[in-house]
Amino acid sequence: PALDDGTPAQAVVDLDAISDNVRALRGHAPSSDLMAVVKADGYGHGMLPVARAALAGGARWLGVATAAEALALRAGLGATDARLLVWLLTPGAPFADLLRADVDVTAGAPWALDEIAVGARAAGQVARVHLKVDTGLSRGGVAMRDLPDVVRRAAALEASGELRVVGVFSHLACADEPGHPSIARQAAAFADALDAVASAGLRPEVRHLANSAATLTLPGLHHDVVRTGISVYGFSPGPLLGAPSDHGLRPAMTLRARLAGVKQVDAGEGVSYGHLYTTSQDTRLGLVPVGYGDGVPRQASGGSAGPGGPFAVGSGADRRVLRVAGRVCMDQLVLDLGPGARERAGDVVTLFGASDGVAHGAEVPNAQDWAEAVGTISYEIVTRLGARVPRTYL
Ligand code: PLP
Repeated sequence: PALDDGTPAQAVVDLDAISDNVRALRGHAPSSDLMAVVKADGYGHGMLPVARAALAGGARWLGVATAAEALALRAGLGATDARLLVWLLTPGAPFADLLRADVDVTAGAPWALDEIAVGARAAGQVARVHLKVDTGLSRGGVAMRDLPDVVRRAAALEASGELRVVGVFSHLACADEPGHPSIARQAAAFADALDAVASAGLRPEVRHLANSAATLTLPGLHHDVVRTGISVYGFSPGPLLGAPSDHGLRPAMTLRARLAGVKQVDAGEGVSYGHLYTTSQDTRLGLVPVGYGDGVPRQASGGSAGPGGPFAVGSGADRRVLRVAGRVCMDQLVLDLGPGARERAGDVVTLFGASDGVAHGAEVPNAQDWAEAVGTISYEIVTRLGARVPRTYL
C-alpha cells in the first residue's frame, strides 16, 4: 500500500508471510502442534492480526508473557478453538479473570499453585495449569530442587478439584548455538522433570520445550507442542542458524518513511547532534522522520564511530543502500544522499523489508542487517518499534 498522505513512517506487515511461515514451521515439526508466540504486541507486528494469521496458517496455540496480553488476546480473538497460554505471572495476577477467559496459566514458581487454586475457586472453574520447570536457563520456572514439593502440591490440588496439570514445559538457553553442551543437559533435565511429574501421578496432555531454534534444528526436542516466536515473523533465530530463506521463512515486516526534506549543503558541514558525521563533498542531505522515539536505535548513528544503520533509497538504477549520517535523534535522522541525488521531499526510503511491503524473502537491508549494525538481535529491532509508527497490513 501507499504511505498514507502525511504519514511520516509506517510498518507494513505482510500477513500472508506470517501464515506461510507457520505452515513452513509445521513442516519442520510435523508431529507436533504449534504455539505461535505473540507476546510484546506480536514481536512489534501487532498481536491480534498476527495471532489470526498464525491460526490461519495452522497454529493451534497462542502464547504470551503477561496476564494483560492474555486477556486482550482472548477479548480480541472472538470465537476460536485456539488454546491460549500465559507464562510470566507475578503474585496478585488476575488468575480468576484468566480462567474465566479460558486461558491456560503457568505455575513457574512454588507460590503460583496456591494462588491459582484461589483463582479457580473464585471463578468456579478447574484451572488448566502448565508447570514450567527451570532445566538450566536459570530464568523462569520451578527449580529442579523444588520440583518434588511442587508436583506433590499440584497433585493434592488436582485431587481436590481446583486445578489440572495439563502441561509441562521448559525453555532453552542456547538452542541457537548448534552443539552447545547446555542443550543436551537441558534435554536430560526435562526428561527428569517429566519423570518427577509422572511419579506424582500427574498426567499432562502436552510437553513443550522447543523455541524457534530448536524447532528448526533439534527435531528430537519437539515433544507435543513447539513454541515458535521469531521464526513466525520470518527471522532466523540467530546468525549461526543461517538466513530465513534457508528455513523457508520470509520476514513479514517492512519499515519505511517519507523524506521530510532534501537540501544542498557544502563539503565540511557537521551533521546532526555532536557533528559525528562531516560531509566530505558538496552533497544533498535527506531528512528522515523517524528516530529513537520510534524505536530506531540511537546506536544506529553513523560517522566517526562507525557506519550507521542501513537504508534503501531510490529505485531502478538509482537504488542504493545508504547509512545514517550522524546521530539518530528522537524523531529524525539524516541520510547523505550524495551529490546530484534525485530524491525529493516525500520520496519513500526503506529501513528494512521491501519498498512495496510485500515480503519476498530476500530484501536488503533487512532487520537482521539492522541488528548487526547496532550489535543486537532482530527480535529487539522489530519489538522496540514505537507506538508512533502505524502498522498497516497486507
Ligand atoms: N517460549 C518462551 C517461554 C519464550 O519466552 C519465548 C520467547 O522468548 C519463546 C518460547 C519463543 O522464542 P523464539 O522467539 O526464540 O522462538
